[in-house]
Amino acid sequence: MKIDILTLFPEVFGFLENYSIVGRAIEQGSISINPINIRDFSTDKHKRVDDYPFGGGKGMVMKPEPVYEAINSCRRDDSTVVYLSPQGKVLTQDMANELAKKSHIILVAGHYEGLDNRIIENFIDEEISIGDYVLTGGELPAMVLIDTISRLLPNVLKSEESYEIESHYNGLLEYPQYTRPRVFKGLKVPDVLLSGDHDKILKWRQLYSLKVTLEKRPDLLANRKNMDDEFDLLDFLIKKIGKR
Ligand code: SAM
Repeated sequence: MKIDILTLFPEVFGFLENYSIVGRAIEQGSISINPINIRDFSTDKHKRVDDYPFGGGKGMVMKPEPVYEAINSCRRDDSTVVYLSPQGKVLTQDMANELAKKSHIILVAGHYEGLDNRIIENFIDEEISIGDYVLTGGELPAMVLIDTISRLLPNVLKSEESYEIESHYNGLLEYPQYTRPRVFKGLKVPDVLLSGDHDKILKWRQLYSLKVTLEKRPDLLANRKNMDDEFDLLDFLIKKIGKR
């Protein structure tokens, strides 16, 4: 997958090359990251990329011409142009899974008061937000998107790492995790995880995945369409309790 990033701060993306799983994805060629400076497309002699908003008001707006030219410089037939924006659809794992199937993504990172609306309405395929709050620019959201996409690409995660068991992949939060020591400051690891009984461990993990989701993010359960697995689990538990 290729990702072109249109930004006023191309230098910040150098960080990704040495950053954990994204760095690995770049190194092994699963993803290529190409920051493009929008300012290079300004024809203004001072290389200005912003101007005052029509109608007055505070702040500056990104001029349409340099953004348009920057998009055109890298757009291909298979491109998806994404504007990182607090007005976009809030990023979810499902959206990341869909983006990970694309071959070419152009990320547009805004600054100041954002893009001229004619660019958003006519030259952007998707507007994506990383949450309901406002950041200074689209660079950090672009990195968030790149990180979540990278780990979904084939052969990026090692066999002992897996996104399928992680929170949100199947609509639930992940079960609680523990590591050595068995007792830490008098706090014990649940006995079942030390039992070696893989069937019991699997059931415990399914149950606790459901439990933490109910406790921490009940809204995820409310939005869940297919609850068959959860009902199977509850069935299992009711039968088990009934046997005691
Ligand atoms: N005036 C805009 C508004 O109120 O909708 C906010 C502009 S913001 C200060 C500047 C840039 O930061 C935006 O163009 C966008 O690219 C990026 N940005 C800010 N918050 C974001 C968020 N929650 N998700 C994605 N991008 C965001």
